[in-house]
Amino acid sequence: MSAVVPKDGLPFSSHVTGVTARRALLRRFVGMNAPIKNDRIAWLQGPSANCTALPAERKHPWRLILLGAPGVGKGTQAELLTERLGACHLSTGDVFRAAAKCSDCDQSPAMRVALEYMRRGDLVPDSTVWEMVLERSGCILDCGGFVLDGFPRTLGQAESLKELMEKEKLSLSAVLNYELPVNEIVRRLSGRRTCEQCKSVFHVTERPPKIASVCDRCGGRLYQREDDRPESITVRLNAYERSTAPLIQFYEDLGLLVRIVAKGSPDEIMAQTMNKLKERPPH
Ligand code: AMP
Repeated sequence: MSAVVPKDGLPFSSHVTGVTARRALLRRFVGMNAPIKNDRIAWLQGPSANCTALPAERKHPWRLILLGAPGVGKGTQAELLTERLGACHLSTGDVFRAAAKCSDCDQSPAMRVALEYMRRGDLVPDSTVWEMVLERSGCILDCGGFVLDGFPRTLGQAESLKELMEKEKLSLSAVLNYELPVNEIVRRLSGRRTCEQCKSVFHVTERPPKIASVCDRCGGRLYQREDDRPESITVRLNAYERSTAPLIQFYEDLGLLVRIVAKGSPDEIMAQTMNKLKERPPH
């Protein structure tokens, strides 16, 4: 599988210089000791937007990729890891969701097509995903580090990222693969309920609301996401097996794969992750 080539044929470095330079300038204004929590605006909206807080610059930043089937709790772990390690949480799904919500934004034709794929539950084509990531490559090359969540998702995307990082002489710290048996994943996803208003997440047996179908936080109605219905879960798990599972072998061959059993509370899984990461500090 070959890497995705940018449409304009320009070398990768010409895409990143402007962004990196502006981020360096921003960092001077925001201060080196600014709070680590980042609003990720440059990632969510693209490089014309500026983040209000950038992670502190590090000599050896953490650069992590999270792998795992839908429902293993990658998103939660990504949040916890970025808080702990001071890196940016870069989720490609979040970029597409932000674009879908922004009705008055000027969406490029490529983004409009991407959103159609997303609504159908299909993977967005590699060329579109890579173009979007490349446009935001300042976030990846930033010296605060990153936790990539939902990207790469195919071998083509993984090759493109590898090529970009090699050109910039950057190395990945680790690829964390969160593992859980399929029946446990189906149980987690099919019992998940989300608040219509504040988006809080509950589970019918593991984290039930005090009043059935009513959000504890805001009183909003709880509903089952369309893609959490059993028939959609099967489609999503099949897509994962087909396109994303081969990445496990790819990163295993590169000596980067770290396996995590995604059982227990988010804090327990996080503790397990940190223990494994201790054995391979970034360099
Ligand atoms: P996620 O929140 O990561 O599950 O992503 C939500 C949806 O966005 C996916 O079902 C895909 O339609 C699309 N998407 C996100 N990231 C990628 C990616 N790396 N490659 C292809 N499609 C993606």
